[in-house]
Amino acid sequence: MARVIDGKAFAARVRAEVAAHVARLKAEHGITPGLAVLLVGEDPASEVYVRSKGKQTLEVGMNSWEHRLPVETSEADLMALIDRLNSDPAVHGILVQLPLPDHLNADLVINSIDAAKDVDGFHISNVGLLGTGQKSMVPCTPLGCLMMLRDLHGNLSGMSAVVVGRSNIVGKPMAQLLLGDSCTVTIAHSRTRDLAEVCRRADILVAAVGRPEMIRGDWVKPGATVIDVGINRIERNGKPVLVGDVDYASAAGVAGAITPVPGGVGPMTIACLLANTLTAACRANGLDAPA
Ligand code: NDP
Repeated sequence: MARVIDGKAFAARVRAEVAAHVARLKAEHGITPGLAVLLVGEDPASEVYVRSKGKQTLEVGMNSWEHRLPVETSEADLMALIDRLNSDPAVHGILVQLPLPDHLNADLVINSIDAAKDVDGFHISNVGLLGTGQKSMVPCTPLGCLMMLRDLHGNLSGMSAVVVGRSNIVGKPMAQLLLGDSCTVTIAHSRTRDLAEVCRRADILVAAVGRPEMIRGDWVKPGATVIDVGINRIERNGKPVLVGDVDYASAAGVAGAITPVPGGVGPMTIACLLANTLTAACRANGLDAPA
C-alpha cells in the first residue's frame, strides 16, 4: 500500500513556522503582517473558505480583514476598494475570493491588485514572473503540492511529471513549478489522447480535473507519487462525501505515495496563503522572506 501523505500535519507544521516568524517580525521590527480578503456575494463554499482563511490568519498572529460585499457590487466599487487596500501599508496581502459574480470581469479585478500584494499569485505579472523563473508570488495550491513533493523526494530533478488539468489557478502553475524543479513535464487536458497511457508514464502524477475519482489505479505507474488536488462533493450511499479526482482505493494499491481527500492538498492551500502573506510583508519592508 502507498504511503499516505498527511497534508493536515504538514500544513500544521507550515503554520507553526509562519507563526514563529510572525512573532519575530513583531518583536524585532514592529511589523504585523496583514491579509485582506474580499468576498462578493454569498456563495456558500466561498463563505466557508473565507471564514477559514480569516480564522487561520488570526491564529498565526497576523491581522485579518474581511470585506463582504453585496452580490450587486459594481466593478468600479470593487476596484476602488482594492485601490484603497493597495495603498494601505498595513495590508500586505489582498485576496479576492473566486468565483466572482458573472457581471464582474475577474481578470480585470485581479490585475488591479498591486502585484506585490497578490498573495494568490494570479496577477498577470506574477504569472509572467513564475513562467520566466523569477521571484514571484506563487499560487497557493500548486505551491502546497510542490512543498509536499520536495519533502517526500528531496530533489525532483529528472523525474517524469504529468499534470492532468490546465487551469490558470492549478494546472498551469503546477506545471511551471515542476519544470522549475527540472522535472520533465507533460500537461494533459480534456483533449489528450490515451490519457491513461500518458498518466502511466508519470513518476509524479498530479490530478487537477474536477471529475470525481476519474483517475484509477490502472492509470498509475507502480511506485509513483500521486497528488490529488480534486475536491468533489458527491453522494455515496445517500450521504454527502468529499472525494478527489483519483480513485483512492485502487490508486493507493499501486502508488508509492498518495495524498488523501480530504486531508491532503486542501489544508496546504491556506497554509501557503499565510506563508505568501508573510513573504509579502517581509518584501514590503525590505527584509529577507523565509525560504
Ligand atoms: P478547472 O475546471 O478550471 O480545470 C479543469 C481542467 O481539467 C481543465 O484543464 C480540463 O481540460 C481538464 N479536464 C476536464 N475533464 C477532463 C477529462 N475528462 N480528461 C482530462 N482532463 C480533463 O478546475 P480547477 O483547476 O480550478 O480545479 C480542479 C480541481 O481541483 C477541482 O476539483 C477543484 O475543486 C480542485 N481545487 C482544489 C483546491 C485545493 O485547495 N485543494 C484549489 C483549487 C481547485 P480543458 O482545459 O481541456 O477543458
